Amino acid sequence: MCKNHGVTYVGQGQVEVREINYPKLALGDRKCEHGVILKVVSTNICGSDQHMVRGRTTASAGLILGHEITGEVIECGNDVEFIKKGDLVSVPFNIACGRCRNCKQGLTGICLNVNSERPGAAYGYVDMGGWLGGQSEYVMVPYADFNLLKFPNKDHAMEKIKDLTMLSDILPTGFHGAITAGVQAGSIVYIAGAEPVGLAAAASCHLLGAAVVIIGDLNQERLAHARTFGCETINLANGIPIEEQIAMIVGIPEVDCFIDCVGFEAVSHSGKSFEEKPAVVLNQAMAITRAGGQIGIPGLYVTEDPGAKASEAKQGSLKIRFGLGWAKSHSFHTGQCPVMKYHRQLMNAILYDRIDIAKAVNVEVISLKDAPKGYAEFDKGVAKKFVIDPHGLIA
Ligand code: NAD
Ligand code: ZN
Ligand code: ZN
Repeated sequence: MCKNHGVTYVGQGQVEVREINYPKLALGDRKCEHGVILKVVSTNICGSDQHMVRGRTTASAGLILGHEITGEVIECGNDVEFIKKGDLVSVPFNIACGRCRNCKQGLTGICLNVNSERPGAAYGYVDMGGWLGGQSEYVMVPYADFNLLKFPNKDHAMEKIKDLTMLSDILPTGFHGAITAGVQAGSIVYIAGAEPVGLAAAASCHLLGAAVVIIGDLNQERLAHARTFGCETINLANGIPIEEQIAMIVGIPEVDCFIDCVGFEAVSHSGKSFEEKPAVVLNQAMAITRAGGQIGIPGLYVTEDPGAKASEAKQGSLKIRFGLGWAKSHSFHTGQCPVMKYHRQLMNAILYDRIDIAKAVNVEVISLKDAPKGYAEFDKGVAKKFVIDPHGLIA
């Protein structure tokens, strides 16, 4: 049997590559003959992993990380009918059964049969059903016929693998942020956060025909990168109110669509110092989105945040001025992105050169052994998206 190694969370600020078990077609006592074993071709480090590694969740030591997985099928369970050995596939980070009422409606981020604690599951994530992560050499994917997206041509797919690897999470997530914010041809959009999800949202807005895409962040390196592919940027660290900065770009202090790609670890700058303020982006959304506008919220908010400063935020309670949103008839859309809703159309957009997502998020490929270094650099805020290549298959 092959050996397996995976990125393991060992404590606040620390991950290690450890030898782990070769995957089984099972989750504890639960048989998964509907699953496959993948040889992992690429697996990306995500901001969602960072929440756990920073100690901002209840994740316990020993968790094998990784929910952004692309791989080759090397073994199929007895109940797998259509996916075959040798297929090169993208794995949606949401695990979904394909049989429950939510899956039947396409709401695969809140499948009812894959997590005994709450709706929705993911690989290698706290409170997400206990499925093992894929920042490893081999991983098991359940309900393979339903979950997997097979790439039509393996050689062409390997040429585009740095783009296609973004289909497991951040490209659909950014696109979903744009769709749920109502982005269409001619829209004026504000995106909070110039990190990979925000950049993927920006590339999605361009694909959808937005007229102006403005990204705000406090990180200058990330803003500079956003400007390389046609985004306007706002520096939130310069002390000028966001309304004024929006008006300097589009003439009025409001936008049609707002996408929050930051989530609960949001920071505010008062002109002098940086302060964590988990509700700052949500309050900005209500302040600058026009009446009747939509607010897409792919940024993650949690039910428990042991690292929060304010006591109510430890339970995920935030100080938002909800009355303002109500008065302006805003629509809010939250939650995990149901990746499957978008991944096939976005795969085609990549394969037919309609979107340059690897460039937009500035992919850097690293070995599995260098994953801890990737985590440390990403945590410092570099303008890169790290893609782990566990078998050295990416040119
Ligand atoms: P990340 O979490 O590393 O980056 C956060 C960025 O936000 C940083 O660049 C930071 O400087 C910036 N920021 C902080 N406060 C800000 C503010 N007030 N305004 C603007 N920018 C601010 O990056 P990521 O990996 O791209 O993840 C982004 C978010 O999306 C995370 O919360 C992640 O958990 C979430 N996510 C959600 C889904 C989903 O399905 N809904 C999927 C993937 C990721
Ligand atoms: Zn992710
Ligand atoms: Zn389901």
